[in-house]
Amino acid sequence: MPTQLYLHDVVIAGAGPVGLFLACELRLAGCSVLVLEQAPDPYSPLKALPFGLRGLSIPSIESLDRRDLLDAIKDRALGSGAPAAPHWMQRPRRPGGHFAGIQFFHDQVDSAAWPYRLPGPVGSVASDMASIETVLATRATAIGAELKRGHSVDAFEQSNDEVTVRAGPETFRARWLVGCDGARSIVRKTADIAFVGTDPEFTGYSAQVELAGPDLLEPGRHYTPLGMYTYAPPGTIAMIDFDGGAFHRRRPVTRDHIEAMLRKISGKDVRLTALKLATTWTDRACQASDYRKRRVLLAGDAAHIHSPLGGQGLNLGLGDAMNLGWKLAATIRGDAPPGLLDSYTLERHPQGARILDWSRAQVALMRPSPGSRALAAVLGDLIERRDGATYFAERVWGVGLRYDLGGDHPLVGRSMPDFELADGKRVNEHLRRARGLLLDFDACASRQMLIAHWGDRIAYAANHTENRLGLSAVLVRPDGIVAWASDSPIDDEKLAQATMRWFGEPTG
Ligand SMILES: Cc1cc2nc3c(=O)[nH]c(=O)nc-3n(C[C@H](O)[C@H](O)[C@H](O)COP(=O)(O)OP(=O)(O)OC[C@H]3O[C@@H](n4cnc5c(N)ncnc54)[C@H](O)[C@@H]3O)c2cc1C
Repeated sequence: MPTQLYLHDVVIAGAGPVGLFLACELRLAGCSVLVLEQAPDPYSPLKALPFGLRGLSIPSIESLDRRDLLDAIKDRALGSGAPAAPHWMQRPRRPGGHFAGIQFFHDQVDSAAWPYRLPGPVGSVASDMASIETVLATRATAIGAELKRGHSVDAFEQSNDEVTVRAGPETFRARWLVGCDGARSIVRKTADIAFVGTDPEFTGYSAQVELAGPDLLEPGRHYTPLGMYTYAPPGTIAMIDFDGGAFHRRRPVTRDHIEAMLRKISGKDVRLTALKLATTWTDRACQASDYRKRRVLLAGDAAHIHSPLGGQGLNLGLGDAMNLGWKLAATIRGDAPPGLLDSYTLERHPQGARILDWSRAQVALMRPSPGSRALAAVLGDLIERRDGATYFAERVWGVGLRYDLGGDHPLVGRSMPDFELADGKRVNEHLRRARGLLLDFDACASRQMLIAHWGDRIAYAANHTENRLGLSAVLVRPDGIVAWASDSPIDDEKLAQATMRWFGEPTG
């Protein structure tokens, strides 16, 4: 008789940052999780500094803080030499970020544009891929996720009830399969989900080199008639060659090739004495037409790719994981309201499409044409203005994130403000267990009784804070997004409806 394989709730293909964060989310919600990762060893020089440097946006910072992962990532990143903030924030006049290399500055940003954001640090936290993955893998396995490295998902089949996943000679069973297996996702291809978008215009190069005569290159970012390069002494180079993406992955990246490219793009007589490390990338921008096919879901680069200009891909993927985790867990537990899992694509697909267009717009500004340089000059003027800087800050920092959830309160669909509460905790600390939260500033007994009907799915906190921004009560989803909010007086009927919409039928 054949051995009956253990049925996992979820198999995740890929232990990159997105797969690992999703594993944490699902384990917090009590699901059994197996992560299959093709690489036998997580180490890669491309994940360490300088190439592994990643800027975390506000939604990522908030998500990681809500799960008590942020401090560990920051501490570990600092230990590995990552700056506390990205390099562009470490200047005398504090830059807030950039669009195609055109900077905006903190002192120009009008934070009054975001009435539901509490005063406090805004911008970005810098970390490196190695630190992020190490912290997430440590947490995921500590709370019971199984992680098998050296297991490449090759194929799967799905029935109405489960998915059978093959990795080499081994077979695994799961109720659900999530492809977090990166840009060339086998899961996406096998599920036959279309990947729709635009072809690349360039090959991008990141290289660590030793230069003969380093003084020939000026540090910083430079647009030239043939492309763009950046130079950070002593030997970190990034370049863009508008070759239609022809070089990427088709030919080996040799010292001679990098030297020839650098000479061509910079127009300088530079020579390389050594090539230590190099990788290429493109601006191909594609998105999965749907993030779900029956029992198979996609998240992270498996669902969307775009150029790394402006550094948004990881942030987009972490946002996918935070949005998907609690919805999939509720579906597995059987208490999800109708349509909850499909709201994952409905909410996240538009976010992905916005980021793809954001990266395409940057490419258009970087083309080595007089028209693009002229357009960049116009944009440079606009970004210097207060409303211009505020617009770019909102997009780059991610503070404008709002899901279209309906509802008549302006906070619905936005990230919950992290109030300091009278119990000495911040709101984010109340979200550590990845449950819903009703924060009741008026401490109303009937409301507490109402929410008690959803049992452990929603925590109730009667609390107050110095400035509650006019709010009486707020219902927060496990991902920290506001599902319902009210200034007084509160309509308990509407609260009950919103609770059922996101948390299903009451059980108590
Ligand atoms: C040069 C560069 C700079 C960047 N800078 C930024 C930045 O500043 N900010 C930002 O937000 N983003 C940035 N990005 C993008 C960011 O790195 C990616 O979006 C992010 O790594 C995606 O995470 P992921 O987990 O979805 O995929 P990946 O990190 O690609 O992880 C996928 C994992 O799946 C595994 N895998 C693949 N196939 C299989 C299989 N068949 N079976 C099992 N496992 C499999 C892989 O080995 C890998 O471990 C940058 C990217 C580049 C190239």
